[in-house]
Amino acid sequence: MSSLLFTDATAILPDRLVESAFIWCESGKIRSITQRAPKVPADTQVVECRGQYVSPGFVDIHVHGGAGHDFMDGTVEAMRAACRAHARHGTTTIFPTTTTGSAEQIHAMLDAAKTVKAARGTPQGARIAGVHLYGPYFAEDKVGCHSVEGRRSPVAREFLRYFESGLVQIATCAAELPGAAAFYREARRRRCLVTCGHSNASWPEMAAAFKCGMRHVDHFWCAMSHVSSVRQRLGVPMRGSMLEFVLGTPEMSTEVIADGCHLAPELLDFAYRKKGPRKLCLVTDSNRALDLPPGRYRFGPGQDGSWFDSDGKVGWAPNGSLASSIMGMDHMVRQMKKDTTASLPEVIRMASLTPAELTGLSRRTGSLEAGKRADLLLLNRRLNVKRVFIGGSEVSFED
Ligand SMILES: [Zn+2]
Ligand SMILES: [Zn+2]
Repeated sequence: MSSLLFTDATAILPDRLVESAFIWCESGKIRSITQRAPKVPADTQVVECRGQYVSPGFVDIHVHGGAGHDFMDGTVEAMRAACRAHARHGTTTIFPTTTTGSAEQIHAMLDAAKTVKAARGTPQGARIAGVHLYGPYFAEDKVGCHSVEGRRSPVAREFLRYFESGLVQIATCAAELPGAAAFYREARRRRCLVTCGHSNASWPEMAAAFKCGMRHVDHFWCAMSHVSSVRQRLGVPMRGSMLEFVLGTPEMSTEVIADGCHLAPELLDFAYRKKGPRKLCLVTDSNRALDLPPGRYRFGPGQDGSWFDSDGKVGWAPNGSLASSIMGMDHMVRQMKKDTTASLPEVIRMASLTPAELTGLSRRTGSLEAGKRADLLLLNRRLNVKRVFIGGSEVSFED
């Protein structure tokens, strides 16, 4: 049985920091977190933390790619390389996310995810917990940087085949599309996190979606409705939008792209204060330009995804709007800590336990707790990722 002991750690629990902690892991799981040295086997591997943080590994529920690869490239190599890139930034559990595109492209992505997910052995990258079926069911006026040709309304003949892969754990659809109710009900039946995104939905459309199981909204403030966009679509009287619905409905969760480019500090802090750390997740929404120099790249499938420019900080669509982030979760954590009043345990919770809870993974991972998988990060005092452990095995980044 492999045994691993972190000594003199500052353990980041969901509600507090524990100084001078010993974190003992055995056979891939966390065995104990104590302030007295546990009795461990003689062959235990010791990680001396010297007061640095030990954090739960991050869980990313909305992410498109990295290191030159988009998950929609649909190959096993792309899938592996992007998962590996995100592990370097602290993500240990990942939900590769589809974009708009053809059914063939989405099936290729699902097939590649299935192959990588099923592979056993020492993990070399973030572990795939499932797929986020995000595109193609977006509203035409809210496609954002996704290719508009690749969007459509949901029809059962198509989406049932995606669900039948058994991989879809998060399912997005714009609430105002014809067929949305059937899509949401099927997603709920399959115990997905059911979400509304890239949508210009009104409050009544959100309320109808809620009845069908919809409980989450993708990247708050981005590619979503507000009162004046709903007014443009439906006229007067002015109606509530996704924004009011999420803020006014305690059961609704959402997520923010805290890269410092999408949302100003007051919006990040507002989202944290209004939804709280149990209903707000950090996501990267990162594209293939993560860890690559500035330049022109494709968003979505490598063959025909839409072009965007990376300036080294964020992606830009040709029309001047933002085209998703190019940062890893470690960056989002540092930015959220800097820009908001959330405590460090709360910021880490929003990147780990909260997304794990929303996706039904929290019994297995997402926090430092005895019995959970030993998905752990060693972070220095500036919250930079120094070492990454998945299921108790250290991920080696020496190429
Ligand atoms: Zn999006
Ligand atoms: Zn996205």
